[in-house]
Amino acid sequence: MKKVPLFKTLSLVIPVYNEEKRIKESLKKIVSYLNDVCAEYEIIIVDDGSSDKTQDVVKEMATDRFRIILVNENRGKGYAVKKGMLVARYEYVLFSDADLSTPIEELEKFSKHIENFDIIIGSRAMKDSNIEIHQPWFKEFLGRVGNKVIQFMLLPGIQDTQCGFKLFNKKSLAVFEKQTINRWGFDFEILWLAKKMGFRIKEIPVRWINDFGTKVSGFSHYINTFTELLKIRWNSITNKYNLQNNDRDTNI
Ligand code: UDP
Ligand code: MG
Repeated sequence: MKKVPLFKTLSLVIPVYNEEKRIKESLKKIVSYLNDVCAEYEIIIVDDGSSDKTQDVVKEMATDRFRIILVNENRGKGYAVKKGMLVARYEYVLFSDADLSTPIEELEKFSKHIENFDIIIGSRAMKDSNIEIHQPWFKEFLGRVGNKVIQFMLLPGIQDTQCGFKLFNKKSLAVFEKQTINRWGFDFEILWLAKKMGFRIKEIPVRWINDFGTKVSGFSHYINTFTELLKIRWNSITNKYNLQNNDRDTNI
């Protein structure tokens, strides 16, 4: 007899950019796990302008539960995630990095909070986070400093805004309609919007097994991401997000 599913329905969005080497293994693990824990699910692959064989590998793995969205040119992870989240059909929608640095099994912990929260985010920076394989020291260091700056300027109380494993219920997907940032800064933009729009956010510690095939290379990524932080503040001052008066901050 099949056990009670963790999720009746779930959409999983995976942004992919030149992932021909990593995506096959990940999809195998994902399909096998979701078959076990979801009554109904879909996997939305958003190909962010890959120039390698990512598309062929995905097509080879695809079942009728797959949807593939193509972006013509590389626009950034934020853009790809937004595209996927806004077409997702099911009640809960997870986005995950293609390399499964946060293993898909972490979803079970998330399922325990779906009654009380709208958005549940993985964290590598909490006491109980389990970093089995660390990022290179400079990346981890810059990540830590970056998180402090993000907390100070935008999101007090959230210890890790950047983990690529976040779950949303249907109504909280409204944040993606207001998202303006296409690259790495989109995580803190959507979380900031979520707070402003009154969604309840829960940060929970996850396992992290770093995969070294990163697309974040060079210091310029960090400078660009900092510029995105400033842009959010500016957008907020100039009311670009068009948030209503009743949009309010909530506690985490
Ligand atoms: N990604 C994307 N567009 C980009 C860069 C990355 O869709 O321009 C995707 C990538 O395929 C992966 C996720 O974003 O699924 C995170 O990328 P990566 O693992 O390189 O980031 P890191 O783990 O180093 O932060
Ligand atoms: Mg990664």
